[in-house]
Amino acid sequence: MKRRKSWGFFLAVGVLVALLAVSHALQDHSRAIKKVPTSHKIIALTFDDGPHPFTTRELLAVLSAKNARATFFLLGENAVKYPDLLADIAAGGQEIASHGYRHQFPNKQPREELYADLAQFETVVAAVGARPNLFRPPGGGYNDLLVADLAVRGYATILWSIDPRDWERRSSAQIANTIVRQAKPGGIVLLHEGECAANTPAAVAAVIDRLRAEGYEFVTVGELLQYYEVRQ
Ligand SMILES: [Zn+2]
Repeated sequence: MKRRKSWGFFLAVGVLVALLAVSHALQDHSRAIKKVPTSHKIIALTFDDGPHPFTTRELLAVLSAKNARATFFLLGENAVKYPDLLADIAAGGQEIASHGYRHQFPNKQPREELYADLAQFETVVAAVGARPNLFRPPGGGYNDLLVADLAVRGYATILWSIDPRDWERRSSAQIANTIVRQAKPGGIVLLHEGECAANTPAAVAAVIDRLRAEGYEFVTVGELLQYYEVRQ
């Protein structure tokens, strides 16, 4: 009798653990993603706020020379201002993702305004054949309801696990050292475009070389999400 009870207990616990694991995997896109649990040595570089004449071409040259892929969280209004750079990002095979049309904090915006902003962004990047399904909220501002609403509209909310604060005009060596030190499988690196991120392209070149020597591969965030592993 006692034994049967304990078997029932273990069975119930086992079923619960399995259900939690499944629901965790399914809920993947209804939560903000800071990193992807994986045992593969892969990492995603991301660039916010572009395209920008100060950094985009340099970044693309580095990525192309090193045969690496990355994700560009663009601003719609900058893509309109610099259509050639937008076209270059697409032609370079890099991933185009949304940082909104304007740089507004979505958790402080009425939903209809946010949806109009997202739609405006989609129209702009459709010109180069991009159909974004990743969104990074400006300022990292989000809440669970916002993330869930974005998921309904087909967007995964992407944050980051490594922030080298490149916009603070740190040297390329400082930026690279922070990234290399904090690198882990499934990591997402937050970097920027623009005048304040002038040292970012050089840092990226160094990071790719150093982490490749450790066995890392550089993928887009979209690719990184394919490696999501459920751990028990
Ligand atoms: Zn931004």
